[in-house]
This record gives sequence, C-alpha cells and structure tokens, in this order.
Amino acid sequence: MKTAIITGITGQDGAYLSKLLLGKGYKVIGLARSDTKEGMKGLEYLGIHNQITIIECDLTDITQIIKILNQYKPTELYNLAAQSSVSQSFANPIATFKFNTISVFNLLEAIKITDPNIKFYQASSSEMYGRVPELPIRENTVFHPLSPYAISKASAHWICVNYRESYNMFICCGILFNHESYLRTDSFFVKKIITQAIKISKGEQEQLNVGNIDIMRDFGYAPKYVEAMYLMMQKETSNDYHICSGGSVSLRDLIEYTFNKLHIPHSKIHIDTNLFRPAEIENIYGANDKAKTELGWDYNLSAYDMLDLLIEEEEKRQ
Ligand code: NAP
Repeated sequence: MKTAIITGITGQDGAYLSKLLLGKGYKVIGLARSDTKEGMKGLEYLGIHNQITIIECDLTDITQIIKILNQYKPTELYNLAAQSSVSQSFANPIATFKFNTISVFNLLEAIKITDPNIKFYQASSSEMYGRVPELPIRENTVFHPLSPYAISKASAHWICVNYRESYNMFICCGILFNHESYLRTDSFFVKKIITQAIKISKGEQEQLNVGNIDIMRDFGYAPKYVEAMYLMMQKETSNDYHICSGGSVSLRDLIEYTFNKLHIPHSKIHIDTNLFRPAEIENIYGANDKAKTELGWDYNLSAYDMLDLLIEEEEKRQ
C-alpha cells in the first residue's frame, strides 16, 4: 500500500485530496498544526476523518518532519499548508512570508536527508504572476507578485525549482488559480457571497458589503482541481502545471448571477472602499492546455457551473 503525507490536512484542498487518495487505496497521513475537532470539520463533512492518521507537526521545526518521514516512509508528500489568504498577508506580511517559505525549505531538506525518492507536491499559486504582460498566463510567464502572500508563494516556488535542479529530486509545483468548494471558509469571496446571499434572501441580512468587485479572476471547482495534483505526482518526471479553468469573470458578475438565482435585487450590493486592497491584480486567467495534454486532466466547468454546484450544496446544508 502506498503512503501519502498531506500537510494542511485541515484545509479545503487537504480534505478533498485525502478523499481522492483514500479512494485510490493510499494510506493517508495528515499533518496539522493542532489536532482540534474544529480543524477536522472538512474531513468529517466528507465522512473520512476516521480513515486518516492525524499527526500534530510544526513545519517550522525540521526535526519533527524528519521523525515523521522516518516513521511513516511515504512515497508522496503533498504540501498544502500555508497562510493562504491574500488579505491576511497584508495584515501579517512577515508571519506569512516566514511560514510559507521556511516550511517548504524544511520539508525539502527533510526529504533530501531521509529519502530523496519521496515525490513532493508544492501548492503554488496564480497570485505569483500578479501584474502580467499578456493573457492568458502560461507556465513561463514572468512573476510580478502584488501581495506578501504572492511574494511568499513565488519564493517557495523557486525553492522547489532550485531543489529539483540541484538535487534531481521529484518536485511538482501545481500552479493553481482560485478554486472553490463548500469547504472554503467564509472569509473567501465566493463562499462569502453565497452564504450572505442566502441570508439576504431569507431576510436575515440587509445587504452584501464588498470591496473592489470589478476585478476578474479564473475560478474553478476544488474537488476537480485536486485530481490534477494526484495526476502530476504519477508522472515519470516532475514538472510544473497550471490548474485553471482557462477564462475569467468579474466578481460583480458572480454576485449578480448569485443574486439573480436567489431573486435578490442588485441594489443590495454595497461597495465598501475600506475593503479595497493596497494593490490588486485586475484580470487574471491561465492556459490549462499543458495539464490537459500531459496529465490527461479533464476539466470543462465554467465559473457559473461552479457557482450552481456550490449554491445547491450550500442550500442543502442550511
Ligand atoms: P486553506 O483551506 O486555507 O488551508 C490551509 C491549510 O494550511 C490549513 O490546513 C491550515 O491549518 C494550514 N496552515 C495555515 N497557516 C499555517 C501555519 N502557520 N502553520 C501550520 N499550518 C498552517 O487553503 P486551501 O484552499 O486548502 O489551499 C491549499 C494550498 O493551496 C495553500 O497552500 C494555498 O495557499 C494554495 N492555493 C490555494 C488556492 C485556492 O484558490 N484555494 C489557489 C492557489 C494556491 P489551520 O486549519 O490550522 O489553519
């Protein structure tokens, strides 16, 4: 039986990836910074919490990682743990940078020391590209990060490339664009608009307060995006891949679509300039042909298909 270690097991992607790997017969070891019941909600929601071994681990301490690798001898390690919020990174830039980079150095160093054959997946982000010269973004587009989060992810990405080139290790970076699911926390945009729109439709909330909604993003569906993580780790040689839908929509369009579906007048949208970010990417979408061709990744959902799925799931759970 193959063993996979997943960091960030309490997050959205950690839960969906665990479900996928369990279905493929893996033993899954999940690393979490603390083993709280609250943190296991996503795994419980998917009905898999009893099938995963959860280990508390501080990824800023390499000795703890080495001990875990020696004990569980994984074939694959998926690094999903990160301070993942762009807004939070403006509030806590140094802590974001420290954790999102040191954890990657420690994991790669620990693999190099214990067993350099362990395959490594890094959760890179489209935010690394920031201000781009042209669209769609391709895997070789130059990075111009526009937030502390993006800077931390770009640094972590280059740490991975450097270890791959220097030590011939199997290291894949999945460069994922925004992807959403029922398991997102309310602080993320799509989840926020769906949960608050449902409240407005029930008369429990007056209006939706949002920042700059004229920016455009490439949105996808998380349970499908984790399939690409698995696929790139099954290749003979490691490489980096865009995982994205291939098109962008404005946040305004997403809100209006949701409001129309729930019969809410657009006058309930309130723009709050205090919610604007210091620097913002205006439009971003990627090309996903490399992942589709080389990995055989199958994806054809639009942002509106994704919204339909999430609104339906959210309404079922109310
Ligand atoms: P998420 O739901 O925010 O989960 C992040 C995970 O990282 C959680 O398990 C969290 O643990 C852990 N974490 C955060 N700060 C930590 C710290 N200081 N020490 C230890 N653990 C920490 O994120 P996600 O949506 O699953 O995304 C997975 C990865 O993909 C992240 O690296 C993210 O940056 C990257 N990514 C996500 C997207 C997206 O649209 N979702 C796009 C591109 C890249 P707690 O539960 O304890 O907080």
